[in-house]
Amino acid sequence: MIDKQILEGAKILIVDDINDNIKLLGRLIRNYKSKISVATNGKQAVEIASEIIPDLILMDVNMPEMNGFEAAEIITQNETTKHIPIIFLTALSDINDVIEGFNKGGLDYVTKPFNSTVLISRVKTHLSLKFQKDELKKLNDEIKKSDNQKTQFLSIVSHDLRSPMSGLVGLAKMINKDFDEFEKEELKELTVSMQEALENQYQFMENMLKWGNLQFDKVPVSMTDINLNFLIDQIFEVLKLNSNDKKVELNKQFEVETVFGDYNLIYSIFHNLIVNAIKYTKENGQVLVTAKEEDNFYKLSVKDNGIGMPKKVADSLFQVNKVQSRPGTNNEQGTGLGLIVSYESVLKHNGKIWAETEENVGTEFIFTLEKEN
Ligand code: ATP
Ligand code: MG
Repeated sequence: MIDKQILEGAKILIVDDINDNIKLLGRLIRNYKSKISVATNGKQAVEIASEIIPDLILMDVNMPEMNGFEAAEIITQNETTKHIPIIFLTALSDINDVIEGFNKGGLDYVTKPFNSTVLISRVKTHLSLKFQKDELKKLNDEIKKSDNQKTQFLSIVSHDLRSPMSGLVGLAKMINKDFDEFEKEELKELTVSMQEALENQYQFMENMLKWGNLQFDKVPVSMTDINLNFLIDQIFEVLKLNSNDKKVELNKQFEVETVFGDYNLIYSIFHNLIVNAIKYTKENGQVLVTAKEEDNFYKLSVKDNGIGMPKKVADSLFQVNKVQSRPGTNNEQGTGLGLIVSYESVLKHNGKIWAETEENVGTEFIFTLEKEN
């Protein structure tokens, strides 16, 4: 970071009981475009620090109610504020107290009356250290998060993929071993159910890989203008067989026709939501796709008048550690991963996704997309 810019936008808390001192410090620091907050005693400093989490505190020592040392003691013990550097503004006569009492990292002092150049240079040093530490912590958190996700991913793959697979292997072995004892019809039935199970497994694996690739940023995201009429017509065409079979009507109603996003990802979100809407709707039901424009985002929705969801299903729709799948109203099977993939795809657009649902009334899935800025 360039020296001069370190102070710009930094949140600095000035703690002093004497108004003139606050004014003086405030004026000095305001020149560097920092954001200033003020406390007039130690107690207030503790409260404000934990509320606004400043980047640095300039702390007077002698104050009524709670002095600067006592306040610093509390601030450095509190988990959320302990990383904030504190610079004491101290009279020459108190210097020994400062040195003895606070020989900890992140704590420093400047003697009063202070020299502006010295003070600003100390502030810059501590801010720069603090920002470097913040950056490291952020990186560390990201690594931990990605590690967690990998663990989750592996545990789901191993559990949800392994047990049905071993069942299928067992079935294939049995057919092979007792092949001559089966009637032709029985064999046909067994292989049909094997094929169905394998197709479902294949779909599960595909969804799992899609999810994994999204998680680990392996999916190139290319943002373009998307014509919703074109996209939704394509999906309706692909799903014509499903909807005709069930006599479910597919409709669209757009207040805005162009949105901004990655075509493939938006296609797959809508595809899954519309498949779901058809799947969980009884014969002669209706599905409506809408698009609206709000101040800063587009609001897209897929609404059905189907079976809705019990609370337990609705509460864990997007959680990768709670994968669940109910058969559709015509016993259609699924993997339970469609919404989890959709959730990640919406996140890639900095959007949100949620469901509004009522049993035996219907469900509406709504998601948002940022506008192009
Ligand atoms: P897949 O998407 O792989 O076919 P799925 O549809 O079961 O499987 P999701 O799309 O993730 O998986 O949906 C998860 C669950 O949420 C469904 O099994 C169902 O219980 C519920 N659900 C989703 N959409 C609807 C809807 N429109 N109406 C009622 N329940 C729904
Ligand atoms: Mg689905």
